[in-house]
Amino acid sequence: LDIMGQNRYDVLIIGSGPAGLGAAIYAVRAGLRTAVIDRSPVSGGQVLTTYEVDNYLGFPGLSGSELSDKFRMHADNLGVSFITADVQGVENAASEKIVHTAEGDFVANAVILATGASHSKLGVPGEEKLSGMGVSYCATCDGAFFRNRTVAVVGGGDVAVEDAVFLAGICKKVYLIHRRDKLRAADSLQKKLLSLENVEVIWNSEVKEIAGEDIVEGVSVYNNVSKTQSSLAVNGVFIAVGIVPNTKMFQGMVEMDEKGYILADETCVTSQKGIFAAGDIRKKTMRQIITAVADGANAVYSVQNYFMEQA
Ligand code: NDP
Repeated sequence: LDIMGQNRYDVLIIGSGPAGLGAAIYAVRAGLRTAVIDRSPVSGGQVLTTYEVDNYLGFPGLSGSELSDKFRMHADNLGVSFITADVQGVENAASEKIVHTAEGDFVANAVILATGASHSKLGVPGEEKLSGMGVSYCATCDGAFFRNRTVAVVGGGDVAVEDAVFLAGICKKVYLIHRRDKLRAADSLQKKLLSLENVEVIWNSEVKEIAGEDIVEGVSVYNNVSKTQSSLAVNGVFIAVGIVPNTKMFQGMVEMDEKGYILADETCVTSQKGIFAAGDIRKKTMRQIITAVADGANAVYSVQNYFMEQA
């Protein structure tokens, strides 16, 4: 630890998605010495890889990266400090919290965990082997590699449908493979999807294997209604089957549910005093940009209450 105190803060925020940056602007405006730690120098989290965000109040139709830039600019303009470091764990010492990172330790009086969530794996043969060789988890990142080709998107949520709509503008043909006969995605997205001529939804179907030697050549699909197996020739597979929280490094430190989401209500107070959880890592029902930003504000309010209790 540096004795000059450069690594000491009132509040350290781990994660620079909407929850982390939302917390950061509230913390700085409350006069707290604040820093945001993220392993990536580019802020935005999952928003960054969202093609278009149409439901964030006041900014209709911005791309995910444009909205992320605005969030970051707002935080920069208020003087938030940013640290690029991979957090390995948080230690709840007597009165201070120590954030351990590969780049050294940082100390704060309170910590807000806002590391969000990442994509889930499908867990079928071929997925891992062909990852980056036609298997992708980010349509906005990798879609351009599949211009005029045929791809499959797996899933039925907002991300899957958004990805399919985005890819339909680039690819010759897009199959959306969903395990049920109803999509989970928002109605407006579904309408957009079903209006596209080069999209075909393969209902009641589960991907059992991704085929290909060095590069994706197809998927084998099981129809759980007709109980039949078939194969589809595709050049790429985009997997959008939900998210898992990025909380591995906090396991055993704060209480979590069986899926790894941190137990905290809308006050963002966790089982550990002085440690708060905001955004997608928290057990909650609505994981949206707007609810993540709201968590950030609530978390800082709780940090201030905590400091008052300590005084
Ligand atoms: P969701 O959990 O909403 O959807 C996951 C989809 O994958 C479901 O359709 C699910 O099927 C399917 N699925 C899950 N596991 C498997 C499996 N093993 N095999 C096949 N299919 C599977 O996740 P998303 O990533 O789409 O979205 C994450 C969160 O982000 C959501 O809360 C979403 O609302 C939010 N979001 C909001 C956006 C917006 O509002 N603009 C944009 C992007 C994300 P089933 O339906 O049968 O369970």
